[in-house]
Amino acid sequence: MNIALTSQIKDLLSSPKKCVIIGHKNPDGDAVGSTLGLDLFLKSIGQNSQVVLPNDFPEFLKWLPYTDTVLNFEKQNQQAVKAIEQADVIFTLDFNSLSRVGDVQSSLEKSKAQFVMIDHHQQPDDYAFITYSDTKMGSTCEMIFHFIVALDGAQHITPQMATLLYTGIMTDTGSFRFASTTAVTHRVIASLMEHGAENAQIHQNIYDTNSTSRIKLLGIALDNLVVIEQYNTAYITISQKELDDNSFKKGDTEGFVNYALSVLGIVFAIIFIENKQENIVKISLRSKGDFSVNEFSRTHYNGGGHTNAAGGRSLLSLKETVTQFISILPDYKDVL
Ligand code: 5GP
Ligand code: MN
Repeated sequence: MNIALTSQIKDLLSSPKKCVIIGHKNPDGDAVGSTLGLDLFLKSIGQNSQVVLPNDFPEFLKWLPYTDTVLNFEKQNQQAVKAIEQADVIFTLDFNSLSRVGDVQSSLEKSKAQFVMIDHHQQPDDYAFITYSDTKMGSTCEMIFHFIVALDGAQHITPQMATLLYTGIMTDTGSFRFASTTAVTHRVIASLMEHGAENAQIHQNIYDTNSTSRIKLLGIALDNLVVIEQYNTAYITISQKELDDNSFKKGDTEGFVNYALSVLGIVFAIIFIENKQENIVKISLRSKGDFSVNEFSRTHYNGGGHTNAAGGRSLLSLKETVTQFISILPDYKDVL
């Protein structure tokens, strides 16, 4: 975090404020880790702070420390709305557009609070009083670490905070293997271990806790995998019926798209997951190298994200979505 930003933040937090910290809808490890990590830090420097998440987060994150303090906007709506109304400062973490918070958006738009964005997604919207955006960062959790250090707060990092931040960095960097992982990332991780993050236990808690339904669904996803060699592209579909037949729970399909990307020669992978309740097809896109799935998703799926990882949605049926996808691939033949 640069000097100008640091002094702006120091000014803002020079007196006690009521802070609310928001993460994106369908929070992932980075969203939960960064919001709770920042919350614990703000409290340690005498600020009043509350995390609000738009909806529930998946089972595989429930072991994380301090998650019982989160207000779930869907389930604890009145309390969450009140916290937002009374906030002096609202930190928005791990998203680049207010449309990413679902139903929380209207509460945020009514708020008179000063907004602080901390995020690593591309093309951030310009809604915040202070914007700390760094698209080179592999995770918002890494940014929270730099934020804490810039505010001379490293001595406040407890094992709980270290665990939260370690987890978000680990999940957003694919366990430190994506191109966004830098030497600095590894130094941050080393420091978090020194502050009490237990690396082997965290990996086990996240990756060795698969439910039977998830493994069954993985089998179906792999069975449904289609490779289009001509365009170095692979896609996976999962229908609502396949989800229902296998007792799908939130988070069960997390990471499936990476199997499509792991096929030799594939540079573009995509998964289409039918969601009849929301009447959409949820889409996750991944790539290797320069092919920007952020751009692809912005153009076709009303979404976005990063160059190599993005999300979006389609309002067509699952079948139509796939047909349309296949029909636009030739437009990208030069870049795939
Ligand atoms: P996932 O495929 O895991 O849902 O998302 C991949 C990345 O893209 C994550 O960093 C996520 O925050 C981001 N992302 C997912 N959906 C959207 C979207 O609709 N808009 C934007 N701007 N980013 C998204
Ligand atoms: Mn993130």
